[in-house]
Amino acid sequence: MGKVRIAAVCAAALALGLWACGAVDGPGGALWRSADAREPAAPELPEIQIAWHPDRPVQGTLLQLIVRPEDGTGDPDAIAEVRGEFAGEPLHFVRDRSGAYRALAGLPITVEDSIQAAVFIEDRAGGIHPRFVWLPVAAGEYRHERLTVAPRYGTQPTPEIAERIAREAEQAREVSRRSHDTPRLWQGAFLRPRDSRITSGFGHGREFNGEVQSRHMGVDFAGAVGAPVRATNRGVAALVADFYLAGTAVYIDHGGGLVTGYFHLSKAEVAQGDTVEAGQIIGRVGATGRVTGPHLHWIARYGTVTVNPLSLLELDPADWPEPAPAAQESADWPSP
Ligand SMILES: [Zn+2]
Repeated sequence: MGKVRIAAVCAAALALGLWACGAVDGPGGALWRSADAREPAAPELPEIQIAWHPDRPVQGTLLQLIVRPEDGTGDPDAIAEVRGEFAGEPLHFVRDRSGAYRALAGLPITVEDSIQAAVFIEDRAGGIHPRFVWLPVAAGEYRHERLTVAPRYGTQPTPEIAERIAREAEQAREVSRRSHDTPRLWQGAFLRPRDSRITSGFGHGREFNGEVQSRHMGVDFAGAVGAPVRATNRGVAALVADFYLAGTAVYIDHGGGLVTGYFHLSKAEVAQGDTVEAGQIIGRVGATGRVTGPHLHWIARYGTVTVNPLSLLELDPADWPEPAPAAQESADWPSP
C-alpha cells in the first residue's frame, strides 16, 4: 500500500490562505510537519497518514484512498468529516472498522505518471485542513484492435446522429453526477454480470474499417441473444434507455458515485427507478446499438470517470462497512 505521512495541523496557515500548506513530497514516505503554535488547543487533531491501494494504481482503474489517524497522536474524534477530490470528482469517505476513512476513486485512462489527490479534514469547530498527495500511476497494458463493422457505423455520423449521440452521452453523465448524491447502496462483493468468457477487454484502441476511432471503454462478455445479464451489485436502475451506440442499456446507480452500465441488450428486465439486488437478472443479451454481434458490454464509472469494471471485482467487502438501510434509499428517483 502506498502512503504518505503528514503532520496533523495547519489551520493557522489555512486562515492565511496558504492552501499549499498540506503539500508534501512525492509518494512513498516524505514527512511534512507544521511547527505552527497557534493551533487551537482542544480537541487536538491526530496526525494522519494518507495511503492508497494499490501501490501503483493503473490507468483506467478504481483505487482506494485511505486516511488513517495515527495511534497516540491527538484525538481521532476531533475529526468531524473527511472529504476529498480526485480527477475532478468528489470523494465519499466512510469510516471503516479500523477507524480509517476510506474512499473509492476513479483513475482516468488518460492520466500518465502521477496524479494529485486532495483530502480535506474538517474538525469539530468547522475548520478545514487540506492535504495533498501525489500518487504514482502505472501504465495500463492496452492493445490495438482492428474491427470491421457495417458501413453505416464505420463512416462519420450525420449531424443528426452526432447530436443524438451527444444527447445520450449527456443523459449518461447526468446519471453519474447524481450518483454522487445517492447514498452508498452497494454491499458485499461485486459479481460478474455473466459467467461467460470475456471476448474483449477494457481500454484497447479500436480501429473501425481502418480508422482509429475510440478506445474500448468496457468489457465484453459472450452470450447468445436472450441469455441473462445480472446486476453486479445492489443499486437503483437509474436509466433504462435505447441509445444509438449502446442500444438497449441499463445503468445502475450503486451510490457514492459508482455506476455500472449494461449495453446492447435485447431486453431490459427492470424499469427505471427499480431497486435491484446483486445477481438479479436485469436484462437479456442482445445485439442492439453499435455491435458486430450479440454480446454484453459492461461498463463502470466513478462519477464521470470510466474505469475497467473488472477492478470492481477486486474490492474486498471486509474493508467497507454496511451501507445505510434500504428504507432510506432512492425515494426521489424519477419515473421514466
Ligand atoms: Zn464492448
